[in-house]
Amino acid sequence: MGIIKTKNLVYEYIRRDEEGNVEGITTAVDKVSLNVKAGEFIAVLGHNGSGKSTLAKHINAILSPTEGTVWVDGKDTAKEENLWEIRQTAGMVFQNPDNQIIGQVVEEDVGFGPENLGVPTKEIWERVEESLKAVGMYAYRKHSPNKLSGGQKQRVSIAGVMAMHPKCIILDEPTAMLDPNGRKDVIRAARALNDVEKITIVLITHYMEETIYADRIFVMDQGRIAMEGTPREVFSQVERLKELRLDVPQVTLLAHELQKRGLRLPKGILTTEELVEALKCLSY
Ligand code: ADP
Ligand code: MG
Repeated sequence: MGIIKTKNLVYEYIRRDEEGNVEGITTAVDKVSLNVKAGEFIAVLGHNGSGKSTLAKHINAILSPTEGTVWVDGKDTAKEENLWEIRQTAGMVFQNPDNQIIGQVVEEDVGFGPENLGVPTKEIWERVEESLKAVGMYAYRKHSPNKLSGGQKQRVSIAGVMAMHPKCIILDEPTAMLDPNGRKDVIRAARALNDVEKITIVLITHYMEETIYADRIFVMDQGRIAMEGTPREVFSQVERLKELRLDVPQVTLLAHELQKRGLRLPKGILTTEELVEALKCLSY
């Protein structure tokens, strides 16, 4: 079994009026079955309201399934006695870094998580150092988080999660509030945690460019997994992505348009370099 597994996961938000009568039901996640192997880098794409955050909240047991089952490292998230372990296995990073940072000093903030887990003081400091280095924020360890840029704050929140030594980190649109440079730094940090520390990453985003390095992409639509595959497999289906109201990376779109006009380019070009190489091959 993978580190994250869901079977026929359904989640319904139920709206009630003041007397407690059911007014309406939204099926936010609808029969999702997926399996993520330890060490994978997964990207989850989908337009607003497609169910990404609801799915994510099941992975660290913030939500419990209406139907179906979720296992994290083999543990059923619906069982009360597993919650502590599940929350240690799967850490979450949210959209707004301001809501996640609580310390007055960067290193203190990163130390809170392991402190709450009862990690011995000496080891806390080791973890803080290691985590801040991993996200490229060690030089700022004595700074006040308030003075940092959005991207830097978000990297500090990632370090805070990492310091708890989770096997898996779920990032729910961690770059949505950041400028392009901040976005790049955060994605680089997430990739490094995956590459170097072998932490399983689930990155939820609506920036296509951030998903091209993923091992696999899940595209969600109306609570279901509408597409699944490697970035190349997913992005070669330009028309399907448009139906799902998603953009395609600019360079992939350009390659697609050139193909439609008769240029013989390979499908699913993801980077400028690949396009340049493919065009070079054509001209010889
Ligand atoms: P995404 O993260 O892809 O934008 P969400 O998981 O937040 O999608 O939402 C999926 C669906 O569930 C949407 O229709 C949304 O309106 C609904 N929803 C999300 N959160 C709540 C909530 N707390 N109460 C009621 N409905 C919700
Ligand atoms: Mg969301």
